[in-house]
Amino acid sequence: MSMDFLAPSRMQAHREERSPWKILVVDDDPDVHDVTRIAVDGCDFEDRPFQLLHALSAQEAREILAEHEDIAVALIDVVMENDTAGLALVSWIRSELGNTFTRLILRTGQPGYAPQTDVIMKFDVDGYAEKAELSRTKLITAIVTALRGYKLVLSLETNRQRLKKLNAQLSAIVEKNALGEFATVVLQNFSELAEEPIDGLLCGLESFPQPGAVGMSGARVLAASGAFEDKLDLPLDVIGEDLVRKCVSECIANRTEYSTSRGVALPLVTRNGLSGALYIGMPLAVLHEKIGPEIIRLFMSNVALGYEKTGLLEHIRNLAYVDRTTGQSTFSGFVEAFQSQAAAERALLVLHCDIQRFRFIVDGIGDEKAGAVLKQTGNRLSQTFPDALAIARKEKDEFLILLKGGASVRIPDIVTRIEDAFQEPIAIDENQISLKLRCGIAKADEAGRSAEDIVRHASIALNDVRQKGLTNHAVFHPLMQEAALERLRLASLLTGKGAQAEFSLNYQPIMQASDQSIASFEALMRFRTASGGTLNTTRMIEAAETSGLIIEIGAWMFRSAFEEFSGLRGLSNRVRLNVNLSPRQVQASRIYKDIEDAAAAAGLGFDRLVFEVTEGLFVNNDQVTLSLLTWLRNKGAKVVIDDFGTGYSSFSYLRKLPLDGIKIDRSFIMNMEQDPDALAVVRSIIAVAKALDLSITAEGVETADQRKIMQELQCDFLQGYFFAKPLPSSDLDSFISGAKGPGLATG
Ligand code: C2E
Ligand code: CA
Ligand code: CA
Repeated sequence: MSMDFLAPSRMQAHREERSPWKILVVDDDPDVHDVTRIAVDGCDFEDRPFQLLHALSAQEAREILAEHEDIAVALIDVVMENDTAGLALVSWIRSELGNTFTRLILRTGQPGYAPQTDVIMKFDVDGYAEKAELSRTKLITAIVTALRGYKLVLSLETNRQRLKKLNAQLSAIVEKNALGEFATVVLQNFSELAEEPIDGLLCGLESFPQPGAVGMSGARVLAASGAFEDKLDLPLDVIGEDLVRKCVSECIANRTEYSTSRGVALPLVTRNGLSGALYIGMPLAVLHEKIGPEIIRLFMSNVALGYEKTGLLEHIRNLAYVDRTTGQSTFSGFVEAFQSQAAAERALLVLHCDIQRFRFIVDGIGDEKAGAVLKQTGNRLSQTFPDALAIARKEKDEFLILLKGGASVRIPDIVTRIEDAFQEPIAIDENQISLKLRCGIAKADEAGRSAEDIVRHASIALNDVRQKGLTNHAVFHPLMQEAALERLRLASLLTGKGAQAEFSLNYQPIMQASDQSIASFEALMRFRTASGGTLNTTRMIEAAETSGLIIEIGAWMFRSAFEEFSGLRGLSNRVRLNVNLSPRQVQASRIYKDIEDAAAAAGLGFDRLVFEVTEGLFVNNDQVTLSLLTWLRNKGAKVVIDDFGTGYSSFSYLRKLPLDGIKIDRSFIMNMEQDPDALAVVRSIIAVAKALDLSITAEGVETADQRKIMQELQCDFLQGYFFAKPLPSSDLDSFISGAKGPGLATG
């Protein structure tokens, strides 16, 4: 079926060949055919000529009609084979053939005979005439009128069918619930209806109107075509073309069609208050002529339905994918973005950031304003990383940023961008809040890594930054994961059933350098797995430190060590017990009570205890540490610096601290035979310690030579594998009985 006539006439003018209007003449009188032919010869309508088809009987007409779908007009003689052959043919055309397009004009040769009106109505007949009456002019007029009708009916029908098809497409997209895609298809469909490319905009509210919120801010271009293509995603308010913006705004605000000389905005109003507008850059009159108001109305109501449904689905989707506090993506959204990028085998970089001391900010300004801080933080991150593939809020003050990775990406540049972004404080009401972000970074260079893995890596790196507190960022390294695993193991050891059976203590003797009698035992923690394996003490203690579990473990250690030590037989009461204190332990106020209770329970005097602390403890010269150490010494315990020489050794501070002695770090003792520098350091340490009246212990003495050197240097105490490895408590009795005389003193 040709539909050329639906195309704009200016396009038609360029057509070489125009398909003719097919006109079927049905009459059993051959003369009528001739007369009709002569009458319409040379006629055309809208630049298309007439083409006559001839049937001499109703039967022949049926055959022709069945063959040609595009007969515009049929002139049908009422009386042919019988009195009602013409009417039967009409009935057949409409009912059986199902042809509702062809216009029918009944002709009768008998004056006075007219088909009943109900026939005209029922079979949609366009007219009837007595053959004698049909002058050439009248005939042509009747045909042209019928052709107009044909054109109208056909366009209505074509559009209806097209509408049906388009609506099916729209609902398929609604199913996929992508508003942007839906909007794009609406524009495409509209241009199909108009049968020419259109300059179109589909604007809609980005989200459901908040209760109480009025005005139309928030409308955004959901789809754009033709001259407006570059407007996609823009907020309506920033569209440069005043006339267009006004047209759309008015339409959305008043929810009615708004027309200007350039174009028209058609309202999209849904039952749930979501509103939008379809702007077509075409004057309303042209639009009506092309598509017709009826079809436009139908189309728009379908679009509104689809819009409502997609909007709703998207709204629900947004609940899952848009973080309500910050407007950034949620973790789920982030994971999806990651997966689609990873599927494309792109090198990716994940940043896991948090805000330093956010807890204090919340305490200071309250939860509600803290929300505003988070929102602004998110905004700054989006501004800083317009190239981000996703930015999400993970939880609390934690954000995730997905960036393109690869060799060209320089981590320091990224870190600098973040630092720069937060140079300026954030203004919340009258408060100016300076934020510092920390971040853990993980690379996903190989394909196939899951989002969860990479995010976990970035989180481990962030944790590393948090715990060390030395830098504002760290890049994930597998060793970090090991540490994290250890923390986990430790936590499960501690919280699992019969956990304490998994902890035990070893005791390593410290000898008097002068006579090699026992001066003390150092209690050292041991960690066992359920399967009986031992875990690295240094790393487990580190893990306990960073996780805070050290406080709990320390309390257990004091009780057990004091208990076991006080149960040892055959020791002079001048033999002491050394215990290690880590920085975090010292910071907890409950340590006073933990130590006091443990000592009381074991019936152990403080004068039997030596506490080993590390240099790091004194860096900040903080009052909490000094108070504890002073308290311990006042109660009769001794305090020594462990691993001396490895840290922040400035001898000058030694003078000011509440100390009794130092333990020279193993590394110096180990190297002193080969390395003159190490020996020189040991010498000077000893000289200073002596000057300050501090006792000196050498740890890590493994050989007789090392022992000899330290003895010559007048070191007070010696400890190391040369004398004994750390011993389980069950071995202590035999060690003690084999030792050279009872220990006498320690410092
Ligand atoms: P540390 O206080 O410096 O303990 C000495 C470490 O050196 C012990 O390792 C010990 O086994 C090892 N060692 C002793 N003599 C020698 C030697 O001659 N050669 C060599 N190569 N190593 C020797 P361990 O038991 O693995 O303990 C590691 C660290 O864990 C300790 O270092 C200490 O800082 C910490 N730690 C152990 N137990 C506790 C505890 O109950 N509380 C706290 N806060 N820290 C503890
Ligand atoms: Ca120690
Ligand atoms: Ca040590």
